[in-house]
Amino acid sequence: MRKKVVIGNWKMNMTNAETTEFLKMMRESIKYDSVEVAFAIPYTAIGSAMNVLNETNIGIAAQNVHFEPRGAYTGEISVEMLKELGVKYCIIGHSERRQYFNETDESVNKKAKVLLENGIVPVICVGESLEERDEEMHLEKIESRVKKAIADIDMRFVDRIIIAYEPIWAIGTGNTATKEQAEEICSFIRYIVAKTYGITISEKIRIQYGGSVNDANAKELFEMPNIDGALVGGASLKPSFVSIIEAAK
Ligand code: PEP
Repeated sequence: MRKKVVIGNWKMNMTNAETTEFLKMMRESIKYDSVEVAFAIPYTAIGSAMNVLNETNIGIAAQNVHFEPRGAYTGEISVEMLKELGVKYCIIGHSERRQYFNETDESVNKKAKVLLENGIVPVICVGESLEERDEEMHLEKIESRVKKAIADIDMRFVDRIIIAYEPIWAIGTGNTATKEQAEEICSFIRYIVAKTYGITISEKIRIQYGGSVNDANAKELFEMPNIDGALVGGASLKPSFVSIIEAAK
């Protein structure tokens, strides 16, 4: 049995004060540990989040990392910096970073490796555009993106990765994939992992769905056999995020 994992991606939202206030409320509402829960918080508010969430089971994720250990990369953050803060997960390859910040499958792969070597779980996002789906190219594109992102990962760590299937057309649009569409691709991703690393590993890794998940659609998505949780954007900024976690219990 894979433990479901629900991660809220705050993107560029929440100041330190807002983070403290919101997470104090979440800390009171999220009290069980049958679901893994984390918030992907802007770098500037990670310290505040740690203060509120220490001694809870709620984890902190970063939204990006640089693959180089240190150096002249103005504006970037290294894995050691995240590790020092106690960050447990890091989102990589989000479609917004691919679109606006030139994130590539190759950089995602490098980031996945440095994160794993440093004990941080990479949450690797992959998805297709509406055009790619309309042209029936989505399976091919997903296969290529997943293969490149997970290439040559140390066998000791590979079962720790989380892959988030995030169709670009569903992110922030209110157009959630149907449970059948989401299940089809999550099971396809598991098959690609099985071809690369074998069935045992593929059965262990968690595959999330992300794209306009909310308290009304979460339950039916979580009932699908290959959907092991969700990466949640907009709805993770609201108190009703708790209902999404409850749907995963
Ligand atoms: C996301 O940003 O990863 C995401 C899934 O956003 P939303 O839930 O708002 O579609």
